[in-house]
Amino acid sequence: MKETVQEIAPGLYRISIPLAFGLDFVHTYAALEQDRVALFDTGPSLPSSFSMYKSALARIGRSIEDVDRIFITHSHVDHCGFAGRIKEISEARIFLSEVEFEAITRAHRDHRKIESIGNFWRQYGLDEKTIVAFSTVLDAFTSATAPFLTNHFLNDGALIKIGGRTFCALFTPGHTRGHLSFYLPEEQIFLSGDCILPHITPNLSPDPACPTFLPLENFIGSLERIRALPVKTVYPAHGEPFEDLPGRVKEIIEHHIQRKDLTWRSVSNTPQLTSEISKRIFGDSLSGFDQGLAFNETYVHLLQLEKEGKIGRSQINGRIFFYQKEPRGAHH
Ligand SMILES: [Zn+2]
Repeated sequence: MKETVQEIAPGLYRISIPLAFGLDFVHTYAALEQDRVALFDTGPSLPSSFSMYKSALARIGRSIEDVDRIFITHSHVDHCGFAGRIKEISEARIFLSEVEFEAITRAHRDHRKIESIGNFWRQYGLDEKTIVAFSTVLDAFTSATAPFLTNHFLNDGALIKIGGRTFCALFTPGHTRGHLSFYLPEEQIFLSGDCILPHITPNLSPDPACPTFLPLENFIGSLERIRALPVKTVYPAHGEPFEDLPGRVKEIIEHHIQRKDLTWRSVSNTPQLTSEISKRIFGDSLSGFDQGLAFNETYVHLLQLEKEGKIGRSQINGRIFFYQKEPRGAHH
């Protein structure tokens, strides 16, 4: 598979980079300004990345040396892995939220995830096999992310001027704790990163470094916020562009309401580990990494149910159990 380039508005391009894992492509965006170019996300740092970006940028009359600014939606490898490499070549300034910068820096510092994240998941009952499978994938993601330094941190509502266009950085946490999307008010274009995707619901990431972060509540808040924007076309990081933003927001919120209800009904009156509740919902035939994703999904919904007072937690011998607080009939 090769990279593709498509002009989505005058001087604004979508550069699609093929991915090795699960998803077909990550879409990154390039905005021209005079003889330079700014990028929104960069794809992972793989042996093929350099030649793909070189040929993609050549097609829009630029080179990697011409990249002067890179804006990053979030810390995941498929979005920012190559940014540090581009910076080495062009001295581009890298802009992102401080939360995501810390997540990238932490991933490199705790270079073996099994030690840093293992203890966190273990207390919720995740088994060793899944912890190994999950942390092996995360370690591979970290090694495809080039480290970088920056002090250009974007706050919510930051306005960015590129080639006569205005991009507004919008804080849209949920998929990650510091996710940013970029809105172009004049053209009503929304570069959504992984905040909203056409066919899949992004997985929601709890942050072991910030246990009070509620991914689901933040995600729903982000969706409700972006739903109110005048948007003609959403350009996501995965999947094709789409127009009906409010319709897609509605579908995703309904999905999570159903999923939360199913999770609630799967919690019993006697305390249980998250891993047991997850197996009741998803079965136990999933492979290691998928088992980890299922566990994560369950955990995120349990956290939300706990916040809403519907379930309680108890800690026994360093392990955390959940139980139902509200009688089933009282649930709405
Ligand atoms: Zn992501």
